[in-house]
Amino acid sequence: TAKPQTVKKDDDVYEMAIQYKKEEDFPGWYTDVLIKGQMLDYYDISGCYILRPWSYTIWQTIQNWFDDEIKKLGVQDCYFPMFVSKARLEKEKDHIEGFAPEVAWVTKAGKSDLEEHIAIRPTSETVMYPYYAKWIQSHRDLPLKLNQWNSVVRWEFKNPQPFLRTREFLWQEGHTAFLYKSEAEQEVLDILDLYRRVYTDLLAVPVIPGKKSENEKFAGADYTTTVEGFISTTGRGIQGATSHHLGQNFSKMFDITVESPDSKQVDGKDSRVPVFQNSWGLSTRTLGVMVMVHGDDQGLVLPPRVAMQQVVIVPVGLSKSEGKNQTIYDECLKLERTLIAAGVRAKADLRDGYTPGWKFNDWEMRGVPLRLELGPRDIASNSTLAVRRFDNNKSSMPLADIATTVRTFLDDIQAEMLARATAKFDSHLINVTKWEDVVPTLDAKNVLVLPWCEGPKCEDEIKERSKSQANKGQQEDAKAPSAGAKSLCIPFGQERFGPFPDGEEQKCIQCGEKAKSWTMFGRSY
Ligand code: AMP
Repeated sequence: TAKPQTVKKDDDVYEMAIQYKKEEDFPGWYTDVLIKGQMLDYYDISGCYILRPWSYTIWQTIQNWFDDEIKKLGVQDCYFPMFVSKARLEKEKDHIEGFAPEVAWVTKAGKSDLEEHIAIRPTSETVMYPYYAKWIQSHRDLPLKLNQWNSVVRWEFKNPQPFLRTREFLWQEGHTAFLYKSEAEQEVLDILDLYRRVYTDLLAVPVIPGKKSENEKFAGADYTTTVEGFISTTGRGIQGATSHHLGQNFSKMFDITVESPDSKQVDGKDSRVPVFQNSWGLSTRTLGVMVMVHGDDQGLVLPPRVAMQQVVIVPVGLSKSEGKNQTIYDECLKLERTLIAAGVRAKADLRDGYTPGWKFNDWEMRGVPLRLELGPRDIASNSTLAVRRFDNNKSSMPLADIATTVRTFLDDIQAEMLARATAKFDSHLINVTKWEDVVPTLDAKNVLVLPWCEGPKCEDEIKERSKSQANKGQQEDAKAPSAGAKSLCIPFGQERFGPFPDGEEQKCIQCGEKAKSWTMFGRSY
């Protein structure tokens, strides 16, 4: 129902701009930006989307970077089937309880019903671990560190959201096994730090690392660590990626045991010990968070490090008679070649039939970090007009040594995008110690930092209590239904939230018992 929003550039008016304002209709804005930015397209099965090259390339950049890093840690890639038998899927009780409602089943082959229904993996613990039991015979087979890049299916019933919550999604899942708990626990943190760097270093998105509460941990894990992001427009938290310590829960069930080099024989028999395991995953949700954090009313805003195209060169000041424009086109192509040779992903937009203003709008919508305008006057002065997408800052750039200048510009843009987003996240993290401030602080689109006892029952009560007090306006947002606050994480580095625990004084905001930590609570995706 929104009226097409028009943009005016160079005396021309265009109607193909983003039709929604980010602050006014966020869900409408988000999908419009993704479609017009050519990140994805809809599919005829709800919750499934097509990743177009513009987004898939970003995913590949994340893949390449992360894969290099985990290879340094000794992780190897492999591939397991997407199907899992019922018996195996149900082997670890807590795990299947957590996933059962979302599992998709194959029940037919052609016209005949399958005698044994086959599940499609929602994650691969139960697919892989029978083989870990077979392959890990001795402590000399440890550590075992495997990863796969694949897709999984979770038939989510919460409203699907492109990238953030989809029914099939791309991810990597790492599954590792160790002799000692301490080695496993160190790896949980090493991987979490790589996840943090995917967000901060590649996507220029700030995240806060921490531990999940008992209620929010992965089904079957001893504990879950997470990097939590924040969407300031809606004031909602988003789980960025998770690294789980599974303890011995799965190794006991799947009988993944080794003879410990430390233990003595018991009654003349070898005493075997279950191994310690981790699993960790990062999905294409990353792309959605990036779009939501950086995008604006003109469309996508891509961080240079991951943008498929970092620079667009647009010829300007063109003459009506085409023949006269050849010099400009040649200069544009020359600039393109210079930049490409220097490793910059640049492209000259020489499409005919479109005005410069139309092209500006087109590339702004697609989020290209830097635009270089080149016309007769620029050529005469041996310079180009550089326009940064993320803050629309314009400056004249000398063509001499242009590649070095452009690379510095791109690095600056990357750093400034992170700094801007970090300042925003920080300004929305609010310490709250009195209950009456909880709902107003949530309504002002903040994440709460609460003194909390870490009790599961208390978490349920905080959720219910904040939900019942939330104003009606919060509950009508069908695409992100939870009006109540749930725990996002117990952040590492508690010092940043001030002195705590403060002797005996600090009480849990809900039950009044002694608080254990500052915990981030918020509405979330
Ligand atoms: P989990 O195995 O549940 O810990 O999930 C691993 C990571 O995958 C989470 O931290 C999310 O970032 C992401 N994820 C979970 N569910 C979805 C989904 N339906 N769509 C996209 N990403 C997801």
